[in-house]
This record gives sequence, C-alpha cells and structure tokens, in this order.
Amino acid sequence: MFVIFIFSTLLPYIGISSNTALMIQLILIFCVCIFVIYLSVNYSLTFSKTSVPVISGISLSQAKDTSNHSSNHSFRYELPEITSLLSPLSGREAGIINILSQIGELTGCTRCSVYELQGTVKIAKRKYFWVKNGADVRKDVLHNSLMKSFPWIFSSINSKKSVYMKDILTAKEAISDLKLLQTQVNNSLIAIPMIDDGDVFGFITVEDSQMTGSLEEEPYDLIFLSEILRLAVVQKQFIDDLSLFKNLVNRSNDYIIVVDRNSSKVLDVNETLCTQIEYSRTEFMAMEPDLLMDTVGNFWNGAFFETCGSHYLDVDSSFRTKTGKRIPVEINVTFIEHDDSQYVLAVARNITERKERDLILQKTRDRVELALNGADLGMWDWDVVTDELVFNSRWAEMLGYQAASLPPNFKTIVEMIHEQEKERVISVLRGIRQSSPSFEEEFRVTTRNNESKWLLVRGKATEFDDEGKASRLTGTAMDITQRKLSEDHLKQYADKLQRSNEMKELFTDILRHDLLNPAGNIKGFTELLLEIENNEQKRSMLERIQKNDDKLIDMIDTAAKFAKLESQDELEFSIMDLGILLRNVTESLRPMTESRKMNTVIRFSGTYRSAVNTIVEEVFANFFTNAVKYSYENTSIFIDIFDDGGMWKVAVTDQGEGISDADKPYVFDRFKRVTKKGVKGTGLGLAIVKRIAELHSGDVGVENNPDGKGSRFWISLKKA
Ligand code: ADP
Repeated sequence: MFVIFIFSTLLPYIGISSNTALMIQLILIFCVCIFVIYLSVNYSLTFSKTSVPVISGISLSQAKDTSNHSSNHSFRYELPEITSLLSPLSGREAGIINILSQIGELTGCTRCSVYELQGTVKIAKRKYFWVKNGADVRKDVLHNSLMKSFPWIFSSINSKKSVYMKDILTAKEAISDLKLLQTQVNNSLIAIPMIDDGDVFGFITVEDSQMTGSLEEEPYDLIFLSEILRLAVVQKQFIDDLSLFKNLVNRSNDYIIVVDRNSSKVLDVNETLCTQIEYSRTEFMAMEPDLLMDTVGNFWNGAFFETCGSHYLDVDSSFRTKTGKRIPVEINVTFIEHDDSQYVLAVARNITERKERDLILQKTRDRVELALNGADLGMWDWDVVTDELVFNSRWAEMLGYQAASLPPNFKTIVEMIHEQEKERVISVLRGIRQSSPSFEEEFRVTTRNNESKWLLVRGKATEFDDEGKASRLTGTAMDITQRKLSEDHLKQYADKLQRSNEMKELFTDILRHDLLNPAGNIKGFTELLLEIENNEQKRSMLERIQKNDDKLIDMIDTAAKFAKLESQDELEFSIMDLGILLRNVTESLRPMTESRKMNTVIRFSGTYRSAVNTIVEEVFANFFTNAVKYSYENTSIFIDIFDDGGMWKVAVTDQGEGISDADKPYVFDRFKRVTKKGVKGTGLGLAIVKRIAELHSGDVGVENNPDGKGSRFWISLKKA
C-alpha cells in the first residue's frame, strides 16, 4: 500500500494531473485508516516480520518474537486520533514530532528521537526529537556517533530487532554501550529499528520511559506508533528528495519540457524554460499544438521517432519567445512509453553564446583564409601521431587537387616530393625538436597533373611527445616555381655577364698590347720621317698622321683604363692626405697651365686624411686638365677641399665657359662631349672619374662656379 502511495506522489511527473494524484493519495490514506481500525477492532495487530521490528529485551525482559504474542491489552486509539496521526504522511516535520510526542505520552519517557544511519560506517544522525518539559535537549551521546561504539544496540537494530534496556544501571550484558548511555539515560532505553524496503535506515529511541511492564506486555500501541512514525519519516524523506529533485529540475540551466506525443499537449516544463520563453507553466500546459510547435519546434514529431529511435539530438534548433525573439538551442529528445502512453522529454540548451563564438571563430577563419589567399599561401596542420592533415583549398590547389579530393594525410604529400629531395625533407621533419621547433624547406613536387613545382614550406611544431619530438606541426606553403625560374634566368644571365666580362678583359688586353704597339711604331716612324723630310706638302701629311696617331694612342690608353676599371669590383685602399695628392697633381701639370698662362690657386691648408687608392690622382688630374682645356688663357683655376660632414669634398673651379644645366647630368656619361671646339679629348675622362668615385663609395658632380663664370667639378671621399 505504501508503495502505491509513494507511486501516487510520482503521478504528476508522468503526466497525471496534481489534483488526480491528490485524490488518489486521500483514498489511500482512507484505506490505511480502515486497515488500522480493522486491526484495532480485532485486538490483534499483526505486522509482517519484514516491515515491523521484532521486540527483544535485555536484562529484565527476554527476547521474544511479538508476532506470536497474544495479549489482552486494549488498543487505545480511536479513528479521529488515527486520522490525525496519519496526517504527517503529507510529509511535514510537525507531524513527525506529533507522533514522537504521542510515544512520549504513551511511554511516559523524557525524550523520544528518530535517528538516521548515514554512510557505510553507519553514523547515527538525530533527525527529529521530542523532549518532556524540563528535560535536557542537548544531551545526546548517540548523535553523530559511530554505531560500532554501541555494539549491543547496533547488533540488535541491524538484525531488525528492538531493544528494551529496562534497568540500565544493572544491564551487564551491554556494558560497552551502557558506559556511554549512562551519561544521558537514567534507567531505561528502548530502541526500535526503522526499516524500508527490507533495509534498516534508522531507529527510534525512547529514553527513561515509565513503562512498568515488559515490552511483550504493552507493545501494540508502541509498535503501532513506531510504524506510523516510520511511514511518516520515509514519506518526509521521499518528499524532501522529490522537492529537491523538482527544485533541481526547475533551477536547471537547461530547458526541460515533457509533451504527450498523442495529444501534443505539454505535461510539464521547468521554470528556466518559462522564464526564458516568457510563457507561464499554466500557459504552456494549455498551449495549442500549433502555437507549441511555433514556440519550441515539433521535436515530438513521430517521424523523428521512426528515423532516430528513442533518442535524437538536434544541434541546430531554436525556440521562439512570446515576444517573438529566437533563441538558438541544442535539443536532446527522448521518447518514453509508459502505461500505454507515449511521452516525449526534451532537454534543450541555450547556445546563443556558442553561436556567437562560432560566428567570431568563423569570421576569424575567413579573415585568416583571406590573408592566406592574399599572400597566395597554402595552410596545413599535421597531426604526426594520427597522420591526419588539415589544409585550406590553396594548399590542395598547389598540388593539383580540389580541396575535397586531396587525401587528408601527410603520406600523400610525401609521395609527391621529388625523389632527389624526399630523403632530405623527411629527415628535416623527423629532426624537429622542442629546442628547434621551426623549419623552412624548398623542394620540388610532382603534382597530380604531373606538373613539376617548387614549394617553399615553412612550419613550426606546436605539440611534442614525451621525448620532445614534434607530434603536431602547423605551417604554410608557397608556390615558388616562378621565382625559381627567374632565379635560373638570372643565374644564366650572370654567367653570360661573367663571360662578357672576360671578353671585355680580353679586349682590354688586345687594346693595350696589340693595338698600342703598332700605334707606337707609327708614332716612331712618323717622327723619323719628319726629321728627314723637307718637302712641305709631305711634312704636313706626316704631321697629320702624327696628330691622329697621338689621338689614337690616347684613345687606346684611356679606353683600356676605363675597361679595366669597369671590370674591377674593388680597390685596395690606404690612408693618405688628399691635400698632398692634390698638390702633386697640380705641380706635375704646371707646364700645361704655364703654356696657357693660367694661374692655379690652392685654397686649402692642413691635413685631409682619407682611405683611398692612388688612382684617385686620375680624378684630380682629369678635373685639372679639363679646367685648363675648357678655359681661356690668363684665367685662374681654384683648388678647394671642403669639410662635408663625414666626407671631404675636393673641388676644381675654373673661369671657363661653364656647362649648361641641360648638359650637366650627362657629362659623366661615356663618350659624352658637350663642346669639342677642337679641344683634344676622348669623352671618357669623366666616365673614368665617376667609376673611380664609385669604387671609393664616393660621389661626383658638377655645378656652376659660385664666384662667376665657369664650372666647378667635385668628388667626395670618405674621411679617415
Ligand atoms: P674629354 O676627353 O672630351 O675632355 P671628358 O669626359 O673629360 O672628355 O669630358 C666630357 C665633356 O665635358 C667634355 O667634352 C666637355 O664638353 C665637358 N667638360 C668637361 N670639363 C669641362 C670644363 N671644365 N668646362 C667645360 N666643359 C667641360
């Protein structure tokens, strides 16, 4: 009956309305009353051994099985009293205390308590108690005690037998228990086990009762009361558990909803769902199927049951609130059959945050993909342990695949690596350690379309095994086939240049040796002929030959010098004083200035240290001779050395015709002659100057004479 009663309290959870359940409970209570009256009228209460404890006594009373006991004591409870005693079955603590007080009154005891046995070590916890007016409430040696500290009581209780220790001071058999009990109990203690479903879950104690007889003489009222008490305690426990369970369900973070599959009506919802979806529980229960479907989807649809069986998970569903807002949910559905009815339980989880996170993640992924695409980079992530490879579409494309058709493992890639490079690449990958987690390799692959491509693969190990070897690698790949082709072309071009340089050097040698010698011979023989020839016409011809031969020799000499400097990459330097070098040059060219009645003005003094090669004298000589060549007689040439920060600026200024701004940028080019006007020259002098300046990491330039007519040529050289 009790089981039926308990079951009735569960009815609201399986779809029976609370009112109906209450009715059933009342009927059951009524049945229990009738049953108890029946027992009292017959004066013989008979309790089954499994549900009612057997009374046994120690010391003064002998252990006896009360089920066999026949007594002529009357049962003192009338129907109204029984009904009032049964009221605690609604699960209230006050009702339990009421029964305890009834026991107190019946037995005339000082204290009456209910203990629950907790844990595997069986600790007694006092759950409810009643004390006679004036008795000490706090005294309780049993509370929070290990039951093994009371072996006599515990062994009886454990074997579902009651204990009556009538004269506690003389009860020698239970000496170990009594030592402790004597501090609180004056003369007697009754302990009655409480049994539920065959297991002892606690016990009732009655301390210092005024009972005069033995338990077997007046047990029925006590047994009756203790049984009612047991029922009340069990029910209270059940209701506590149930309310805890209901509380947990209501406060669950998830939305919980139960629907009758046949009627499409809501049977129950938890508070979280009501709060979030803005419909009250009553509104949910009364909701028409169409609105329900619109609100939470049609998760109870039979089609799901057909395809998914008794469970299914929908990770991309949504609920609609009363005000029309959509809440994304992940919904877990269970179809349940019970008593020929079909119920559907749905537990849904709000995944708004997850969706937002997914969106951010997706956006980030898109951005990374865009960046990778922009940089034309393939991306890959390799789990070395499982050989699983994750990659983007560009990586697959590089290897001649559609993203979906490239096998997602590294083995396939290794097979594509060119035979000559395979071993090297594999050993680089195998050698990656925590201490040097990055790598960069260029290698050839043969794509799916049999195309040969060069890839530049960069990567970094992000996870390692216990030995410090890479267990996960992530990186990028770039198709560098075009770059490799350009490099090849450049290399070929460099080889060509190298060869043409060699040709130039050969030509220079030819110029210097093979052309200069015959020109020298012509010069010698012409001079001889001029000495012996008196015919004016012939002499004039010989003089023209001599002039042109001089020009040719000058040309060969300068061209050879220029070609040599052009093919030279560097010069040897030593620290010299530019002032001394300049003075030497002007001194050596003094006959030239004198022949043109020109004046040389040196406008510097002091020391000008610079790391130079003596070839720099060529520069000074060129500037100086040009100044003489392209100026008028009786003018002056000024030589200056200016301090220009980290450089010395050596300048030769003349008072000649000067150079137009349009021509200035070109005078340092090869064979560029602005004004020849019969002036001897090759057009190579300033080109040689520029090259010498380059070899000294210096600069050259031309500007107008700041003090008047003419021009100023300068070279800057590093200070030392
Ligand atoms: P060139 O052998 O003709 O002198 P350069 O290379 O030394 O060759 O000079 C190139 C040209 O620059 C000259 O032909 C001349 O026209 C011009 N030039 C050089 N120096 C001067 C100068 N001091 N005044 C005017 N023109 C000059």
